[in-house]
This record gives sequence, C-alpha cells and structure tokens, in this order.
Amino acid sequence: MSRLLAAFLLLCSLSFAQSRTLNAEAAQAEAAHFLSDLVKLDTEDPPGNESKVAEYIKAVLAKEGIEAELLKTDAGRDSVVARLKGDGSARPLLIMGHEDVVPVDRSHWTVEPFAAIEKDGYIYGRGAKDDKAMDAANLEVFLQLKRMNIPLKRDVILLAEASEEMSSTAGMNTLVAKYWDKLDCEFALNEGGGGLVENGRVKYIAVATAEKMPRGAKLVSSGSSGHGSIPRVDNAVIHLAAAVAKAGTWDTPSRLNETTAEFFKRLATISPPDEAAWYRDPLNPETQAILRVKKPQYYSMLRTSVVPTMLKAGIKSNVIPPTAEATLDIRMLPDEDVQNFPNLLAQAINDPQVKVVTENDKLNMPAAPASKLGTVMFAALEHAQKKVLPDSITLPTMTTGATDSAFLRAKGVQAYGIGVPGTEEDGRTVHGNDERLEIKQLGTFVQFLFSAVTEVAGK
Ligand SMILES: [Zn+2]
Repeated sequence: MSRLLAAFLLLCSLSFAQSRTLNAEAAQAEAAHFLSDLVKLDTEDPPGNESKVAEYIKAVLAKEGIEAELLKTDAGRDSVVARLKGDGSARPLLIMGHEDVVPVDRSHWTVEPFAAIEKDGYIYGRGAKDDKAMDAANLEVFLQLKRMNIPLKRDVILLAEASEEMSSTAGMNTLVAKYWDKLDCEFALNEGGGGLVENGRVKYIAVATAEKMPRGAKLVSSGSSGHGSIPRVDNAVIHLAAAVAKAGTWDTPSRLNETTAEFFKRLATISPPDEAAWYRDPLNPETQAILRVKKPQYYSMLRTSVVPTMLKAGIKSNVIPPTAEATLDIRMLPDEDVQNFPNLLAQAINDPQVKVVTENDKLNMPAAPASKLGTVMFAALEHAQKKVLPDSITLPTMTTGATDSAFLRAKGVQAYGIGVPGTEEDGRTVHGNDERLEIKQLGTFVQFLFSAVTEVAGK
C-alpha cells in the first residue's frame, strides 16, 4: 500500500516536474521571433519613441489574455508593465529590460541596423543584445508561466522601461517615483550580467550584484590672461594639463567588497595559472600594476576610478585664456563617500589654481547598496546555471557601468544583472557596430531565466 502510494507520488512529482520543463526548441524560436520584431522598431535614444515597443508588448500579452498597462512619463516614451498574480505569501519578483537603444552610425555598419537580419545563427541589429534580447526573453518566460499555469507564491511583474541609455525624465527615476505601487518588489532581474562563450561553450555566467555610481566632475583652472608671446607661470592651461595628468594617473585607494572578493576567488578557479595568481591576490600593488595595463576592467572593479574625457580652453592661438576646464568621468564604488571623494581628488591634485567642481545633476544615479549573495534569488540563479549549463560556473560581478538596477537597489530591492552569453567579439558590438546576438545563446538564456524564475516565484 505504502509502496503504491510512493509510486503514485513519484509519478505525480514527475509529471509536475515535466509540466515545468520548456519545449526548448519552440521557446527559442518564439523568443527569436520577438527579438526580431523588437529590433525592427527603431527606438534610438534620443529621441527614443519607446511607445512602439510598449504597444508591441502590450499587444502580444493581450492575445494571451494578459492585461498590460502603459506607464506614461514623457510624450511618445511609454513604458509597459504587466503582472501575473501569486498567492501573496512572498513579495513580488520583477523581470525587466529597457526599450531604447543607442544611436547608430550607419557608415560603420555592414548590415541595415533595424532589419533584424539573420545570418550564421545570429540576429544582427541595434538592440539585438542591449537590451531587446532581455525584453524578448522576459516576454517569452512570462508567457510560458501563464500558458503552463504555474502556481506562483509571488507576483511576477514584467517591465519594459523607456530611456535607460540617456538619463531623462522618461526613464526609471521617474517610473520609480511615480509608479512605485506597480513596481514594488523584493527581487529584480535586469541587464548587467551575461556570460562568456569561448570555443563554443559558456565558460561562466556573470550575475551582477552591484554597480559603480557614475558621478561627473570638472576641473576648473584659472590664471592671468594675456598675450601668447609672453609666458606666464600661472597659465591656466599649464595648470590644468598638470592637474589632468595627476587625476588620470592617480592610483585611487583600492578595496574589495562581498561581490568582488567572491568574483576574483571564483575567477581564479577557471583561469590559466599566471592569471589565477593575480586573482588570488588582487589587492597586491604588483598585481594592480599588471591589471591596470592588461585587465583595466578588473582594475576598475577594485576602486573608484577617475577618467578625464573632455578638455576646453582658449579661443585663439595668441591669447592665454583666463580659465581652462576638464571633464572627468568618475565611477565610485558602491560604498564610496560621495561627499568626501572630491576632497581626496583635490588633495591628489594639490594645486590652489585648480578647483574640483562636482556636478549637481538631478538625473544622477542614486547611491545604491550592493545586492547580497546570500538570497534565495541568487541561489536560484546559481541553480539555474547548474541545471542549464552544468559545465559552467556562476561569477558574481560588479558592473563598472550603470544600469536601472541602481534605482531599485536604492529602494531596498535586491536586484541582479543577468544577460545572454556571448563571445568577447559579440560583446564589442554592444554600443558598437553590427550589434549581434547568437540565437542558440538566446535559447539557452530563456531556459536559464525560466528555471530561476520558477524556482524563486513558483510554489
Ligand atoms: Zn542596456
């Protein structure tokens, strides 16, 4: 009797597990179809025109009986949100992707950027990877949850948001301020991670748990003006040039946080011996000197970085200008003292003729704490990797760039950056030319996302 019951329960659990398995081929084909449609909607930002994407997603959902809502900010720049209800025993999960793309310089493209041309297993086009692949995968997983009628303990919220590429009032900062009741969640899955494909296999899956905070600053140098035929020691251009050199070569203080400590530890396990030695001891000054040249991305993950990007001085070759200006792109560690850092920079420059002027931009990304590694969401992502890509590993990372996750983390959400794996070459096409995404990897990513979402939100 008890054996019969056990057999029955086993059968039940098998069919239950089966009901949660995607038809990989069909899901990949449908996600690729969504991606192709989305790429064809030109949402170059500026001006964005993201409503085209919002309307498209709303229509796809409507066909399957899911009601979506357009979130209004600026004209023509709608975002779209939809929700599958859980039983309320846990707080919601938000899956999101942005609708806009960066502009294209057609003279450098070998294919039409908004035609979603399919070639050699890839889809080409602006946004193919950043970030319409995320929108397509999110939409696919969301539809599958509905079609398979998967019982949920938490609401799953789908969001496609406007204006990520150019901070504007149409984007996430306004959505969070105006529509928080529709977005409030415990966990969020967003862009910002990915995975590296080498020799046709996924070497690692990167899950971004933190990101650096972009902060603008200017160096303003002043001195006496005069005729270019008479050299002056207080020439503003000379003082600015020296200050820029000091700021740009300054070895800012380095440190590890929970994410980067784990990142380097795990990276060492999949690296060749010489590199592994660096990653086991990343704070060693000798290691840092090597990383600075060979792995600038990793060097940046260890510190707040200061990078000069623009210069402005003078109007005529024989006139010494009274002022000169340099623009700095400063990317702060999540725990950086935002108020005090400009003072440290001024000390490093150490020139009373040069002032550090911080930019008080309303659209600044908020200070956002790193998300934790010890959550059920991070565990679900790791389990999904082990299930879908058993030969790979999960690397928690801190992105040096900024994403919309910052606005959520600032509200207390544990947000994780993920993304479709690709080769290093694929990665270079993001914000570059001939942007592309391998369809097979999109399929793998849909399975990965589905697995993580069902584990964390399913009953
Ligand atoms: Zn993006």
